[in-house]
Amino acid sequence: MNLKLTESFTKALPADSNLENSRRQVFEAGFSHVQPKKPSKPQLIHVSDDMLDELGIGQEDAKSEDFLEIISGAKVYPNTNPYAMAYAGHQFGNWAGQLGDGRAINLFELRHKDKLWAVQLKGAGETPYSRQGDGLAVLRSSIREYLCSEAMFHLGVPTTRALSLVLTGDQVLRDMLYDGHPEYEQGAIVSRVAPSFVRFGNFELFAARQDFDNLERLANYVIEQFYSDLGIPSKEVYIEFFRRVMINTLEMIIHWQRVGFVHGVMNTDNMSILGLTIDYGPYGWLEGFDFGWTPNTTDKQNKRYRYGNQPNIALWNLLQLANALYPLIEETEPLEQILQEFQSKFDLKWLDMMRSKLGLKGQESEDLELVQNLEDALLSSETDMTIFFRLLSHYRIGKPEAAYNLIKPAFYKENLNSPEHKTLWNSWFKNYDKRLQNEKSDDRLRASGMNLANPKFVLRNYMAQMAIDAAEKGDYALIGELFQLLKNPYDEQPNQERWFAKRPEWARHKVGCSMLSCSS
Ligand code: AMP
Ligand code: MG
Repeated sequence: MNLKLTESFTKALPADSNLENSRRQVFEAGFSHVQPKKPSKPQLIHVSDDMLDELGIGQEDAKSEDFLEIISGAKVYPNTNPYAMAYAGHQFGNWAGQLGDGRAINLFELRHKDKLWAVQLKGAGETPYSRQGDGLAVLRSSIREYLCSEAMFHLGVPTTRALSLVLTGDQVLRDMLYDGHPEYEQGAIVSRVAPSFVRFGNFELFAARQDFDNLERLANYVIEQFYSDLGIPSKEVYIEFFRRVMINTLEMIIHWQRVGFVHGVMNTDNMSILGLTIDYGPYGWLEGFDFGWTPNTTDKQNKRYRYGNQPNIALWNLLQLANALYPLIEETEPLEQILQEFQSKFDLKWLDMMRSKLGLKGQESEDLELVQNLEDALLSSETDMTIFFRLLSHYRIGKPEAAYNLIKPAFYKENLNSPEHKTLWNSWFKNYDKRLQNEKSDDRLRASGMNLANPKFVLRNYMAQMAIDAAEKGDYALIGELFQLLKNPYDEQPNQERWFAKRPEWARHKVGCSMLSCSS
């Protein structure tokens, strides 16, 4: 294995001068050097061919002992110096102070095909930022991150990637539901990959400590590496940088809303400065369309991170980033203006996104009402979001009264043939039909366009759980099957029809399917 190593982040910011791997506050540093924990019996479960290719690692190399040792933390790649990053953050709306990579260790950076990649292990042992945690990850949460991050990529959602999934051979104690019943689970490690893992929280850490030199270094680093077209850093460039982060974040959220992804823990330490979906913990996928849904049981009370609130939270998080950048800009007005832009831009882009889901080409003034009425209809009974939109592409102009039967498979309850429900849908379809006729929509063209906006396959919560249940018994076949399925989420894949189905009833209240906690 011959990697084209580079060092950008660790060159741009000072290292923690204390080399001891002890839990503590780390000052005036962007990261701490730390060695991964040696796993007792590493075993490769799955590797992403795509990511091997992106990183310039040969398929044969990936079968070597060398590769397994590196992605399990058994061995450090020659001439590299692993590190954990320092960051802070707001968790559930409250300032949490220093957080940092408590269970992620960056192995190295490399450049391949003109792209910069940082490779990190999640679950490779403790770091100075581990606080009360053990720095480890369990198999169930590692499978969830591994499958979902790659699935998101293939859905076209900006995201961190995953290279590999390994078992460490070690046991990890977890109280899955925080109910005083800890159990041993199998330890695992995902190697994650992204151009950068810098989060809003990296900026917040320096700002909170009034370490403005490092704040400036960090901003300059991110701008020079990832927003270099903005030019040489200056006050104006910092403002434009914030605007770009706002736009990238906004676009990411629009994608989440489009595919029905609920992140579950949108703390500012989980917000990527590149607008990538990062930190797959208690995330979930909408099954029944529901603005109020969150998969995260830790957030059951307030539902701060519910589906319908993701845009507001993104804005709130951007406000925290604006506060952190303020010392470099010293003017509130341009920052406030950018936050306002988020709101106006969001409404427009969101409506455009909804138009694409409905197969509307043009823009009409009544579109917002059409979409809102659709949401009311979707909410009038439990309606599977993915199935509904996919079936909608089969709608044929001029047949609004036939539509109810067409979309019926998306409804969760069988006894829904109530006259009110039918009437509601009939009237919506009449308006939809009129709208399509107005723009002389072509059935076939519309359907193929809609199928690029509405995935047929997403990683439903119960699907991940089935893969987990089998893997915990040593059967990894379903991980491979789902990985393959989710590479082409917009394709028909007629022999995979069993995954184009509503959530089975057994999964409605099952732990892991509808209830997840941060304990992973
Ligand atoms: P998360 O909510 O998973 O994004 O994590 C929030 C913070 O807790 C981050 O600083 C993580 O590194 C840290 N953390 C989460 N789980 C562990 C763990 N098992 N051991 C050490 N730190 C952890
Ligand atoms: Mg995190």
